Amino acid sequence: MSSSLPDTWFHASGRLLIDLNTIASNYRTLKEQMADKACGACVKANCYGLGMDQIAPTLANEGCEDFFVSFLEGGIKLRAILPKARIHVFTGLSGGKPQDFVDYNLIPALNSLGEIQEWSDYCSKTVTRHTADIQIDTGMQRLGLPQDEIESVLNNPSLLGDLDIDLVFTHLACADTPSHPMNRQQLDYFTKVYERFGANRASLANSSGIFLGSDYHFDLARPGAALYGINPILGKPSPMAQVVRLQGKILQTRHVDTPQSVGYGATHRISEKGRIATVGVGYADGYLRSLSEGSLAHIGDIPVPVVGRVSMDMITLDISNVPEHMCSPGMIVDLIGPHQGVDTLAEKAGTIGYEILTSLGGRYYRTYLDGNEESG
Ligand SMILES: *Cc1c(COP(=O)(O)O)cnc(C)c1O
Repeated sequence: MSSSLPDTWFHASGRLLIDLNTIASNYRTLKEQMADKACGACVKANCYGLGMDQIAPTLANEGCEDFFVSFLEGGIKLRAILPKARIHVFTGLSGGKPQDFVDYNLIPALNSLGEIQEWSDYCSKTVTRHTADIQIDTGMQRLGLPQDEIESVLNNPSLLGDLDIDLVFTHLACADTPSHPMNRQQLDYFTKVYERFGANRASLANSSGIFLGSDYHFDLARPGAALYGINPILGKPSPMAQVVRLQGKILQTRHVDTPQSVGYGATHRISEKGRIATVGVGYADGYLRSLSEGSLAHIGDIPVPVVGRVSMDMITLDISNVPEHMCSPGMIVDLIGPHQGVDTLAEKAGTIGYEILTSLGGRYYRTYLDGNEESG
């Protein structure tokens, strides 16, 4: 497992392997859960930091037809990659004019009565029923028609005018905790109101929502995290497969002994004779500073603790238990991999897998594994 650096990433600080086959199989897993209902894909933030250019076509090849981005800008990028897909933009008209969405054939989420009016005016002016979505807020207080505007629509559906609404959708606040009472409350409310919006389809579930059962499925799911290997069910074994493997390379090793210390602040005191390896990945690469002291890396199958503070470009590992021939400069250390998935690392950092993935920096040499390559 521990081997010398391939020439191709010799100049990079580390390597990020992204397995497109696994993303495809994760998509199939979610699709199976959805049975005869449709499964879209959330590709916001450049596919949670992993690369829309490569991942969006992989998902489209698996039959995914509905893609979700946060901003107009992401929609425009995705349109260049997937000329035919339905692309939905969560932040809708807050980020652009109706004409911008029509120019790129994007579907904005209308998030207020004001935006519904704006879209409706635009449709009248252009004498075309351009398609939009309506997002309603059932508990996040974030985006979408707020409660009082939903009530206005229920009392006066003509406020929606004569629009072509593809989706009416809302977002669950606590879907990763199946026992949370808010799931049922949001479901009940959505079930009560969604038909009044006259949409072609309804959508509620994100990744975790899919696993709350078929009541939550409606016509279309919008999973993101689970596609990229994050566990959608808190505290239960993950139904998803790991997508990323993150590797750093050893820059230097040294022998240490008491009373030396390691790193900024001299927070780690050497208590007995041992060895330290420095690896060229730091918080500027998304290896969060909260992983200082006590998180794990692996050399081959051997766990090695991070000691001292994470620096901007480097971490230091206690390699006292690893044979010297496995830790020469240039050799590979697993930071996220078969021995430690993204969720485990996130937990050690006091965060969630979403933040780990979207923080992975731009300095890694990125390798996309597909059917033609052997995996890591
Ligand atoms: C991010 C997001 C999703 C996807 O959520 P995951 O938890 O990553 O599956 C779905 N819907 C909305 C509105 C979102 O913002």
